[in-house]
Amino acid sequence: MAGVIETRGLRKRYRRVDALRGLDLEVPEGSICGFLGPNGAGKTTTMRILMGLIRPSEGWASVLGDDIEGNGLATRSRIGYLPQDPSFFPRATVRNTLRFVVHRYASGSRSAIESSVDETLDLVGLGDRADRKVKALSGGERRRLGIGQAVIGDPDLLILDEPSVGLDPEGRSQVLDLLEGLKERMTIFYSSHILDDVERVADHVIVLDHGEIIEQGPMASFLGGGAATYRVVLDGDDAAAIDSLGREPWVGATRMLEPRAWEIDVTDREAAEHDLLRMLHGYDGTRVMELRSEQRDLEDIYLDLVGAGDDE
Ligand code: ATP
Repeated sequence: MAGVIETRGLRKRYRRVDALRGLDLEVPEGSICGFLGPNGAGKTTTMRILMGLIRPSEGWASVLGDDIEGNGLATRSRIGYLPQDPSFFPRATVRNTLRFVVHRYASGSRSAIESSVDETLDLVGLGDRADRKVKALSGGERRRLGIGQAVIGDPDLLILDEPSVGLDPEGRSQVLDLLEGLKERMTIFYSSHILDDVERVADHVIVLDHGEIIEQGPMASFLGGGAATYRVVLDGDDAAAIDSLGREPWVGATRMLEPRAWEIDVTDREAAEHDLLRMLHGYDGTRVMELRSEQRDLEDIYLDLVGAGDDE
């Protein structure tokens, strides 16, 4: 899969801060890529460089196959961008704000422009606010308008800097549905501190800390690939049953937590789902009283990587 975004040795030094310290990142085409990292890790700086808004101190980056040094209008019109603090004309209406974006990056008949504005208003749930002035919108509605500005015109790549910040749970859920719905049409690179949401929609993850990438790859391998841990409580000859189970190739370490309660690491979750209960239950009169998977989620893994308390 080609990298829609690629960087090599990307560095950014502000006067006293080494914001990026040599990033080699790759965002695969067609992915929803979650860009994670504590406050000050360098996410916004990276996105601003990719958009050509600031220049890197060193290194190279390409977006949609174009070197950012020569990132002309042709490429810009294929990228939808939501900055961290989007600015609007406060006295413009919501509809005019979107019309303005279409006029800037696309040409087309008046009716084509109007239908693209209407479609975007529906997409971001602002249909009933179309004629309201931006200054009269709530914070969450303004955020949605920012997302509308980014998605209008059907770009090939969306770069969103914290699209869900400031949204209520319903708004967050709408943003997730929106991202999922857009996945078929475009690559999405977005930063967020809401790890549950990222786990729900992203299929690729990049974690940044202090200006360096500490992990990047598919979500599935990030979450441990096929590995998982199960907790079981057994009745009967539990030690013999566990001993027998331990001979299966997909079973890793086993630990007794307390009499009859065990923890079992597996390397192949699919095999475990299929066979674990059946094998323990079938062993010489043993009965399974309790079985649950203790799968670590994105937040657990992220906190191990960057350290609890390093983020908000
Ligand atoms: P957050 O999650 O808080 O939005 P971030 O990961 O987006 O953080 P950046 O905004 O890219 O982080 O900031 C990276 C580092 O660069 C921080 O230490 C920040 O203080 C510093 N920085 C950002 N912009 C500037 C600037 N214009 N001048 C000086 N330092 C800056």
